[in-house]
Amino acid sequence: MIPGARLIILGRQGAGKGTQCVRLSRHYVVPHISTGDMLRAAVREGTELGLQAKKVMDEGGLVGDDIMIGVVEERLAKPDADSRGYILDGFPRTVAQAQALDEITVAKPVNAAIDLDVPREIVLDRLSARRVCRDCGTNYTATGDEPSPWNCDVCGGDVEQRADDTPEAVDRRLDLYEEQTSPLKEYFTSRGVLTVVNGVGHPDHVFKRLIDAIESLR
Ligand code: AMP
Repeated sequence: MIPGARLIILGRQGAGKGTQCVRLSRHYVVPHISTGDMLRAAVREGTELGLQAKKVMDEGGLVGDDIMIGVVEERLAKPDADSRGYILDGFPRTVAQAQALDEITVAKPVNAAIDLDVPREIVLDRLSARRVCRDCGTNYTATGDEPSPWNCDVCGGDVEQRADDTPEAVDRRLDLYEEQTSPLKEYFTSRGVLTVVNGVGHPDHVFKRLIDAIESLR
């Protein structure tokens, strides 16, 4: 990996992006910046941002571009991201966000946008079984055999279903992805930074494909 690499991971929700980003961030020791995790933390803490975002998130909508751009601009300016680079997960999600990111990162542009590609039918199945640690964001797949309460293997936090993983909210998110986020593939292709990685298969195999794609950026 290029030292200080700045990477964007794109893909449908449920493509395994979050889990893979956590692994990549540990592997390369770079910050994992997840806008979804930041918003969920704001909701838990009851901040102004959390109050604004909660309803939109629960319904599977998109939080406004201006709010999101402000959140990301502030985060990318922190010393860890500035010096070590970052793995950006869940942002940008619209062309307007991508254009703003170009401006924010004009001095240090992103090195690559990786599209973790998983077809819609597969993510629908995954999302209904998805459970998440509310403290550290580790993802799990429910099989029906879980202990109750279910505690996270990584941090001991409560593992639960996300409020926005109802079938209606999932459908809405996937529709919004096609409309608003998938045009980003063309956007990053035209800038010569898009790499598509097949996200179907065992998570260890997908992780290996991601590492290979990132290593080939050298
Ligand atoms: P995620 O954990 O990335 O699936 O994000 C959870 C929810 O947070 C999304 O369904 C959106 O409601 C909201 N969200 C996260 N990132 C963004 C973004 N870049 N733009 C708009 N809304 C976002």
